[in-house]
Order: sequence, then structure tokens, then C-alpha cells
Amino acid sequence: MSGAELRGRTAAASGEASGDVGVREAATDRDGATLADTPGEPEETGRATRGRQLRAPPPGPDRGSSDRLPSSPGRAASGTAERGLAPGLYVVATPIGNLGDLGRRAIATLESADAVVCEDSRVTGLLLHRLGIDRPLLVYNDHSAARLRPRLLRRLAEGAALALVSDAGTPTISDPGYRLVRAALDAGIPVRAVPGPCAPIAALSIAGLPTDRFLFAGFLPPRAAARRRELAELAPVRATLVLLESGPRLAALLADAAAILGEREVVIARELTKLHEELRRGRLGELAAVIAAEPPPRGEIVVLIGPPEARAAEVAPEAVDAALREAAARLPPGRAARQVAAATGRPAAELYRRLRELGHGEDER
Ligand code: SAM
Repeated sequence: MSGAELRGRTAAASGEASGDVGVREAATDRDGATLADTPGEPEETGRATRGRQLRAPPPGPDRGSSDRLPSSPGRAASGTAERGLAPGLYVVATPIGNLGDLGRRAIATLESADAVVCEDSRVTGLLLHRLGIDRPLLVYNDHSAARLRPRLLRRLAEGAALALVSDAGTPTISDPGYRLVRAALDAGIPVRAVPGPCAPIAALSIAGLPTDRFLFAGFLPPRAAARRRELAELAPVRATLVLLESGPRLAALLADAAAILGEREVVIARELTKLHEELRRGRLGELAAVIAAEPPPRGEIVVLIGPPEARAAEVAPEAVDAALREAAARLPPGRAARQVAAATGRPAAELYRRLRELGHGEDER
């Protein structure tokens, strides 16, 4: 792998492929342009109204950029054109806790879009309300994306400008939207990024771990066996690992990571940009023990694990044994030894002998 790695588990995490979307639309936008889809399609969710607290800059992501439409009378039939935002899908990052992190361009895009495509109308409705932005909300969440994506694509093909947001952070990063983006690109619809907050990137930027190569793996499976399998897969990756986890499952994740990855550096970034923002740093085994002895932490968490040490000698023997046992529970001994060899840098033959000492039999190798 070269350069920074960003491996999204977005489809799996968001369930977008099988997902359920409720698209609900306003009959008209505030300029009176028709936004209604074909009759019989879902009804209006609602709008965020009143309470303007932040003033948006002039509409359009960048004055003078190609996002702005020329003032052509031919385009003025759409509310989008009147507001100066070119047709297309705008992927807009929103705050992960601190409203002040919302950029001027994001505000302008939300204000100028024909509609805002969101995960949860209550969450995004509140955000827009705080901003004093009044746009129709189209609810696109995990359960019916496949069914409703075509409607959004049709709207886009007809020239609409849609802003895609998630509840917080950057859409499509462990959030819905990847398949919508892909389908829009495949259909030749312009897709533009309006970048901003992203919890995994924010955590990485302050963790003090190597950032030249990192691998974002999102949430690992909640079930122990599947989680351990994924950790064993990640073990050989020579990059900082960036994971998401909930407070109640943090101790189990750290314990498994310590057993399978060995004594690496770990950073726990909690409640970033919020009142109780906290960064805890340590070695995996040590921090796993501390967290296990405490009540589960509250709030939102990113876990970052440093890359494996360069020298195999630094992988503790007990960690090697734990990795061998875990691998041997699901693989024949030869393959288990080779997998742990890749993770630790130790010779496969030595690990195979050790597996036999640990009571795992011969196989066909
Ligand atoms: N797309 C989002 C982004 O770009 O930040 C991530 C969505 S993912 C479903 C949500 C997870 O991100 C949370 O469960 C938590 O693990 C992490 N997260 C979100 N906000 C956070 C924050 N303020 N501090 C730490 N972690 C956060």
C-alpha cells in the first residue's frame, strides 16, 4: 500500500446497500419552484425554519468557481439557478460537535441547494434551524436507499442541486451516501465535495501517531470472534489503524487488540470538539487494563493504534502466543503460522513449532 490508506467500511457500516430511505419532499421550494416528485411519491418531511443565527455568505461554493451558474435566463426556471448553485450532488460535511466548525461554503451550499438529503430529519432539521436555513429535507437513511436512490438520481438528472449531509461529519465515511455518489458519477452528474469535519481525520490529526500511512477500518464487528478475525487481518498492516467504537464496547476492543496486535501505541480520542474532549495515550495492554477497570466511557470515540514495531523482537511472546491461538482456532496450523508470521515478522517455521508446543496438531502445510 502506498501513501495514506483510507479503507471505508461505509457500505457495511451504513447498510446502504440494503438500506431504507424515506424520501420526503416539499411541494415547492421557497422561491416557488416545483420540487415535487411524481405523484404518489413520499410526502414532505418538513423544513427547518426561523431562528437565523449565522449569516451565510453569498450562495455558491466559491464565487467565480465553476459551481456558479452564469446568469442565464434559460436556467432561471429552477430555484437552484436563481440562488446561483450549479446542478449536481454536493457532499457537505457538518460539525461533529462544535457548530463553529461549519464552514462558510457549507452554509452557502445548504442554503442554496434545492433540497438537503439527510440521514435523520430531526438532526439535520435542528442544524438548519440553528443556521436559519429553510430548505426541504429528503430523508435518505439505511433502510431503503436502494429503492429510493433512483428518485434522487432523477432529480439530479433534471438539474437539481442536492446537498448530501449525514448526522455529523463527512457523509459516506461510515455513513450513508457512497452508492448515491457512485451512481451519480456513473450517470455523469457532477459531484462536488464541500469538505469539513470528519471524526477519524480529526482524531488522527491530534493523536501523535504516524500519519503518512493510515488505514480507516470503521467499526469492527461487535461479536468477539468476528472482531478478532478482523484484528488478525489488520495485524500485518504497516500503518496507523483508525477505528470507531462505542463506550460500552471499548474495553473488549482494546483487550482483543492487545492480545492480537501486541504492545503497540494506542490513542483514544473522545468527544472531539465538544466540552468533554479527551485524548488518552498509552500502550495497548496498559490502556486496555485501565479502561477495563473503569465504567464504560460516555460519548463518541475514535481509537487509533500505532503501526507494528519495526523489529519482530519487540512483539511480546505472550502476544505472539495469543495471536497463534486465535489464528489456530479458525485456520489449519500451517496457515495460522503463516498469518502470524506476516503480522509479527517472525519466521513461519518457528511459529509452526510453537503452535505444536501449544497443542495444535499437524496439517497438510
Ligand atoms: N461520517 C462521520 C465523520 O466523518 O465523522 C463518522 C460517522 S460514524 C457513524 C460516527 C462515529 O464517529 C461515532 O460513533 C464515533 O465513533 C465517531 N465520532 C463522531 N463524532 C465524534 C467526536 N466528536 N469525537 C470522537 N469520535 C466521534
